[in-house]
Amino acid sequence: MSAVASQGLPRRLLVANRGEIAIRVARTARDIGITTVVVYPDLDRASAHVRFGDVAHRLAGTGAYLDAEQLVEVALENGCDAVHPGYGFLSENAAFARRCVAAGIRFVGPRPELIELFGDKARARALATSCGVPVVAGTDAPATLDEAADFLASLGPGGAMIIKAVAGGGGRGMRVVTDVADLPEAYARCRSEAERGFGTDAVYVERYIARARHVEVQVAGDGSEVSHFWERECSLQRRHQKLVEVAPSPSLTGALRERLFDATRRIAAACRYDNVGTFEFLVDVDRPGADDELCFIEANPRIQVEHTVTEEILGVDLVRAQVELAAGRSLAQLSLRQADIPPPRGHAIQLRVNTESLDGTGEARPGSGTITAFAPPGGPGVRVDTYAYVGYRNVALFDSLLAKLVVSSPEPAYAAAVARARRALAEFDIEGVPTNLAFLRSLLDHPDVAANTVTTRFVEEHAAALL
Ligand code: ADP
Repeated sequence: MSAVASQGLPRRLLVANRGEIAIRVARTARDIGITTVVVYPDLDRASAHVRFGDVAHRLAGTGAYLDAEQLVEVALENGCDAVHPGYGFLSENAAFARRCVAAGIRFVGPRPELIELFGDKARARALATSCGVPVVAGTDAPATLDEAADFLASLGPGGAMIIKAVAGGGGRGMRVVTDVADLPEAYARCRSEAERGFGTDAVYVERYIARARHVEVQVAGDGSEVSHFWERECSLQRRHQKLVEVAPSPSLTGALRERLFDATRRIAAACRYDNVGTFEFLVDVDRPGADDELCFIEANPRIQVEHTVTEEILGVDLVRAQVELAAGRSLAQLSLRQADIPPPRGHAIQLRVNTESLDGTGEARPGSGTITAFAPPGGPGVRVDTYAYVGYRNVALFDSLLAKLVVSSPEPAYAAAVARARRALAEFDIEGVPTNLAFLRSLLDHPDVAANTVTTRFVEEHAAALL
């Protein structure tokens, strides 16, 4: 293949996903002149993403979004020369990426070895350590029950640890243990959850950071050079799953931010990162200035749900970057070398609107119904990425994320973005299906949220009071 041909953009892209992210990908494809094939199984034919492709192809079976063989066949049948996996489903499945490549189809993501490396959190931890980047104190994997017990004892009285699935994701396969008496059951449950959810029961343990902030760095690489796209803070979580994401972090000091970028650059350069990805860290609020104040936890070799806030503060299209990097273009050719990345403008906040109902304690349960009214907010600095429409009945089998409300403000003060988030949330009306809109409104009204003096436990500690 000539150099020029190898750098040509795909002509036809299979979007191997559903819902809002399938629409997000199809939009960029159309912006840059690539036709798309979208897919759906029968039970999901009402999802709006079906209308966003140039071709909509029906898949057989209910587990179709996870059916690698069928998706590659559909791509070939429809003349696709690239596949975008979105997030979730097959996006971190190295075997799927290899299958695509073997069939002569570009996989829009990092090379399979990187997907494998970061799919194993224990290997990722080892890589960080070898780069001189602190990780949370913990064990190697797989950790036996005895090793986990020894580790908990080593933390001393009042110590807490978290059991984590080596292949975990989406906040699942994690359990916090403070009392050794609870360990055998928690350990067994975590392993069986990991086996069921991720196909391997290997777990490891880490010291549980009681007061942590979650910060992460967006990167893009071309296999020889890496750029970072500043950070996002995602401390507002429920059950280890993100609920609100902010870019850049309103609370990072200059020195800590430099350490964060330096740590990310080291790990990303060591593995010659290619395509876009995210490196995640925890900040231990109780260890200011300590070597392990900032610890690497994992990296995600795919587009993330919260990529939007980075796009808003920098004016970049990360899905476009993914497609162009997958086509063999370099960061230099894309004008995405570090020196090309502008400083962020103001702040952006993403609020995840989920179909769920909250009980009296603030516990969320997935909810379903047919949408009878859907009035998204608008005006300056408001972006809504959604697949919702009036008449749509959500399918409980899939993720509960219905809409991503993304607000941005060019003003330096974080308060301006918070005010805009409140305004947009007040405008948003969804009827017919239970959502967490009211919960998000009270969350944004809380002074600690407005000041961003929150930790990853804020939502669970305040949920009942916020209802
Ligand atoms: P996943 O891949 O499922 O998203 P992560 O390893 O990224 O899992 O962790 C998700 C969240 O779980 C973190 O943002 C944090 O809130 C919590 N968490 C993970 N490890 C620890 C830890 N060692 N101490 C405290 N909280 C943790």
